[in-house]
Amino acid sequence: MMAAITAARMGAKVILLEKKRRLGIKLAITGKGRCNFTNAAGIEAFIDQIPQNGRFLYSALNAMNPESLIQFFEDLGVYAKVERGGRVFPASDSAQEVRDALLAELNRLQVDVRTGWKVVSVETDREGFFRVKAKNRPAIKCSKVVIATGGITYPQTGSTGDGYDLLETLGHRIVTPRPSLVPLRSEESWVHGLKGLSLRNVAAELLADGNTVQRQFGEMLFTDSGLSGPIILTLSRRAVTLLDEGREVAVRIDLKPALDRRTLDVRLTRDFSDMPCKSLKNALECVLPRRLIPVIINRAGVDPNKRCSEIKREERHRLAESLKALPVRITGYASPAEAIVTQGGVNLRDVNPSTMESKLVKGLYVCGELLDVDGYTGGFNLHIAFATGFLAGRSAAD
Ligand SMILES: Cc1cc2nc3c(=O)[nH]c(=O)nc-3n(C[C@H](O)[C@H](O)[C@H](O)COP(=O)(O)OP(=O)(O)OC[C@H]3O[C@@H](n4cnc5c(N)ncnc54)[C@H](O)[C@@H]3O)c2cc1C
Repeated sequence: MMAAITAARMGAKVILLEKKRRLGIKLAITGKGRCNFTNAAGIEAFIDQIPQNGRFLYSALNAMNPESLIQFFEDLGVYAKVERGGRVFPASDSAQEVRDALLAELNRLQVDVRTGWKVVSVETDREGFFRVKAKNRPAIKCSKVVIATGGITYPQTGSTGDGYDLLETLGHRIVTPRPSLVPLRSEESWVHGLKGLSLRNVAAELLADGNTVQRQFGEMLFTDSGLSGPIILTLSRRAVTLLDEGREVAVRIDLKPALDRRTLDVRLTRDFSDMPCKSLKNALECVLPRRLIPVIINRAGVDPNKRCSEIKREERHRLAESLKALPVRITGYASPAEAIVTQGGVNLRDVNPSTMESKLVKGLYVCGELLDVDGYTGGFNLHIAFATGFLAGRSAAD
């Protein structure tokens, strides 16, 4: 939509083909229906939130930075507000409003929008034109093509990875698409038992074969099949690749990241001597959410009914250890249908970052999640789609 609007504003005659009955189905459910459409970060801070290939985006971000995207939407009547962590949302909290604004602009520019057109092939002819063929539809001849078919996540919204085949057929290399920002699965029954419990201000470490590879601080959630929530989604990118490589993966939770082991031991010693007659399971209520207490006590191997005054030094150390390093063995990840974004995609070595034009096929442009670049949560992925779409549309019309 952004590529079509940009090209049409420059005077190009644009046809927009969409396989679903409506445009922007995914856009309308982003940000839990509120559409976190960009992030107010500066360009360097933005790139920091792109775990791989972020430098590819410099030209796109210079062509359309967060400020200019906010202005773009304001010009369409969508006013923005900035929330925690620089996340930008429409002031109306309505993703629908963002989609409707794009539809109205496409309409105003008289872009020929054809929904229900599933593109099945893109071919070049000898005169340098393209023939775009959609299922059960007549072929379209055109001088430029922008492919913006998205990734493989939430396939019910139309993003089923069709673009990879279209581009592979034209000689492009594809980095294996995998889900990212996806819940992690664990077989441990105590984890399932904590379903719905959300923890704030905790740290989680991702371990591969026992070695820490990434650490995040913030909020996480237990689900009926494993772990989710912001910090787990961030760790999931690496976890997915490690699991696919057959590595032993675990997440180690630090429930008290603000206290080192010694300080935590001092704190427990003080708490236990303040309430000598209380049972351990009741005493721990002042340091832990109630549902986690049996998990921690069980892991530490201490009798939950023991009175605080009777707890031995080694037992206290084991309790502190469980609080600082609660391991969860990870055995898999949720399907692409539950993932926010796709990692992998069209190999960036085959795309010119200054124009989004394919280096293999002149006049062919690629943008959005289809490219092998993805960000963490916070509005980065939609911004990547809008900025690369803008650059592709502008270059194609130029
Ligand atoms: C639940 C959820 C919430 C999200 N929330 C946020 C958020 O708040 N902030 C954020 O930054 N990112 C968010 N994202 C990620 C963001 O939505 C995507 O990165 C972004 O939509 C990618 O845009 P795109 O245009 O590249 O692809 P898509 O939005 O996937 O659009 C691709 C379009 O191409 C169409 N298509 C596919 N194949 C064909 C074909 N063969 N012929 C014709 N048309 C075809 C599809 O039907 C679809 O309409 C969220 C994702 C999900 C799943």
